[in-house]
Amino acid sequence: MERLQKVMAHAGVASRRSSEKLITTGHVKVNGKKVTELGTKVSKHDHVTVDEMPIQTEMPIYLLMDKPRQVVSTVHDDKHRKTVIDLLDDEIKERVYPVGRLDYDTTGLLLLTNDGELANQLTHPKYEVEKTYVAKVEGIPTNEELKHLRQGVRIDGKLTSPAKSKLLSSDEKRQTAIVSLTIHEGKNHQVKKMLQAIGHPVMKLKRETYAFLTLKGVLPGEFRELNPEEVKELK
Ligand code: URA
Repeated sequence: MERLQKVMAHAGVASRRSSEKLITTGHVKVNGKKVTELGTKVSKHDHVTVDEMPIQTEMPIYLLMDKPRQVVSTVHDDKHRKTVIDLLDDEIKERVYPVGRLDYDTTGLLLLTNDGELANQLTHPKYEVEKTYVAKVEGIPTNEELKHLRQGVRIDGKLTSPAKSKLLSSDEKRQTAIVSLTIHEGKNHQVKKMLQAIGHPVMKLKRETYAFLTLKGVLPGEFRELNPEEVKELK
C-alpha cells in the first residue's frame, strides 16, 4: 500500500504537492468514491481516477537495457517493427515505457520505467542528465573540429550546449574514427546532427552511459532491474 499522492505522482499526474491539492479539492476518486483525505493508502488493486480519468496504480519498476540495433524505442510501432517492449520477458508484468529515445539503428543504454514522475524529471531540459555516446564516424575529426563540439554547434538553427568530445581512435586506411561525445541535452538525433555539423557523418552510434549508470553486466538485447540505491541516486 502506498499513499495516494505518491501513487499519483508516480503515475505522472502531477508533483506530489500538486497531487495533494487535487485530492483535497475533490478531483480524485478511489474505487468510485471521492477521497479528500491525504492519509489514504492504495494498492495496485484499487481503481483511482483523477477527474474521472483512470490512472496507473501499480508500483514503480526501473529497468536498464542494452538496446540492440533494429529495435524501436517506443511502446508501439505502426510499421510493426520490433520494439524494446518486445524484448522484455514475461516476468515483467508492469506497463513500462522508455525514458527518452534511441534511434532505430542506435544501440546502448536505455532506461524503461512505469514511474512517470522520474521519467518526466529525467527528460526535462532543466534536469537533463549527462549521457555519453561513442560514435564511429566517416573521416577523422581534427582537434579544431572537436573543439567546435565543445563550444556548441548550430543544429536546426540553434546552438547546442557545449559537449565533451574526444577522439578515441582512428583508422587512416579506412578513413573512419571512433569519437566519444558527452551531452546533457536530448534533442532529436542530436549526436548524429552534431557530428554531421562538423563534417563527420555517423556510421554507428552507441549510448554507453546515462548519468552514473553504465552497461556493465548487461548483454545486448538484455536488461536488469535497477537496485534501490541506484533509483535513489537517479532521483
Ligand atoms: N543522438 C542521436 O543522434 N541518436 C540517438 O539515438 C541518440 C542521440
